[in-house]
Amino acid sequence: MTGKAHLTIGIAATVAASKHFKININLASLTVCSIASVFPDIDHPKSLINKYILPVKNKSVKLTIYLSLGIFIIALNMFYFNYTYLNVIGISLILIGVSTHREGVIHSLNGLFIFSITFAYTSKRLGYSGYSIPFFIGYISHIIADMFTNRGVPLFYPFIKKKIKMPLTFRVGSWQGKIVEGLIMASCLTYITFELPYILSSL
Ligand SMILES: [Zn+2]
Repeated sequence: MTGKAHLTIGIAATVAASKHFKININLASLTVCSIASVFPDIDHPKSLINKYILPVKNKSVKLTIYLSLGIFIIALNMFYFNYTYLNVIGISLILIGVSTHREGVIHSLNGLFIFSITFAYTSKRLGYSGYSIPFFIGYISHIIADMFTNRGVPLFYPFIKKKIKMPLTFRVGSWQGKIVEGLIMASCLTYITFELPYILSSL
């Protein structure tokens, strides 16, 4: 599924959830849920998020950059700072580096919990709280949306490596898939437009 489709689904899901759960809708929380909704595809070197991070978009550059950045942060922390949250960030970067697209922990429930807890812990340590739920919703909306595609996701990785998908799926990139993605995006955008007075009043 395209990054744009994940983005609209993530924002619509967060706005809808804010009606039932205690979530503040503001520019910061909408930015967090937007980033989280495209975040799991960080395991793909050509994804929307890696477009802005990787200088060359291939698997080995992705592995090298995230792995060395993770090790560098852990080593720097060991010698100079000794903060737990920097170790957590370093380990997360290593996990991103070694995960193959939709084959590893990033597109799984374990990834959802590891990265949501990492985000909640790190943001709290840096003095920002209240963004953990938008992050969680953005991330889980991505995993659920990918389960509607024919490739599925390794939901229970690393315990069960089998890809799990919904009974009804579509093939990404096919003409039917493009129509389905277009319809999903149009519905989410219609919902967001419909809720615009509520969103703007909360900003
Ligand atoms: Zn994905």
